[in-house]
Amino acid sequence: MNAPGTPKPPLTLYLAAPRGFCAGVDRAIKIVEMALEKWGAPVYVRHEIVHNKFVVDGLRDKGAVFVEELDECPPDRPVIFSAHGVPKAVPAEAARREMVYVDATCPLVSKVHIEAERHSEEGLQIVMIGHAGHPETIGTMGQLPEGEVLLVETEADVATLEVRDPGQLAFVTQTTLSVDDTAGIVAALKARFPAIVGPHKEDICYATTNRQESVKAMAGKIDAMLVVGAPNSSNSRRLVEVASRNGCGYAQLVQRATDIDWRALEGIRSIGITAGASAPEVLVNEVIDALKARYDVTEELVETAKENVEFKVPRVLRQPA
Ligand code: SF4
Repeated sequence: MNAPGTPKPPLTLYLAAPRGFCAGVDRAIKIVEMALEKWGAPVYVRHEIVHNKFVVDGLRDKGAVFVEELDECPPDRPVIFSAHGVPKAVPAEAARREMVYVDATCPLVSKVHIEAERHSEEGLQIVMIGHAGHPETIGTMGQLPEGEVLLVETEADVATLEVRDPGQLAFVTQTTLSVDDTAGIVAALKARFPAIVGPHKEDICYATTNRQESVKAMAGKIDAMLVVGAPNSSNSRRLVEVASRNGCGYAQLVQRATDIDWRALEGIRSIGITAGASAPEVLVNEVIDALKARYDVTEELVETAKENVEFKVPRVLRQPA
């Protein structure tokens, strides 16, 4: 903090747009809220509904109970599957236990599941570009029997990939990857397996793409970048990488204002702020307020796209047939 009476140093704050919540996150949170209204607490949620502690804590306060596996849920309480998607075995097991369940998988993730299944029905083996261990990757790979989906994380993985038939392959991707890294991996796949089929570009969603674009647009003109998001949020972590790779000297992921490393920001004249798709705007405002307490801030919006995507929330939650 500045000593009382000391003028605050000037700081130009570039605010990225779009930033923060995407349509899939918004829908998933609304589904949990509706379930709490309909069935009362506790409602169980398998995995963090979205990767953000603030959101999860808020829903927990309202009566949501977060678990990692289905067998942690009592069979007589409803369970919701997170926005990241789940392997097919999970709803199958819930049905076997006669549980009430609601699937809050983002429709753009479900689209990838359907793509993978369709290719598999056509006899193709699937290559998934994604991060090992991420729930979305586990969910997408779990749409098909073991061995039908091969995971690649890097271009180097492509070189060592062992496939059943190089002429019978398709690829899908996680929705929250780096657009630039993925383009390189897709190019490597096409070079090694010219017959591979896939989406026009990749399956990275509009929200991930737009947030990366706005960071790219400001990265070269800022001294530092703060990305509001959680350490386990794939799309938030990609935003930090995009800032660093595109000319920003210092980029930090912060969950909220208390995480800001003020020492690292000493001497800066400009800063960029964005937020991952699961980070609420209230936390962005908290970070901006913390900057305003220390600096004489001039705000500039860096808007590279307008978003009007909205996913329908079911009007009534029902037990699946
Ligand atoms: S980041 Fe993209 S895929 Fe993930 S929930 Fe949001 S809109 Fe859906």
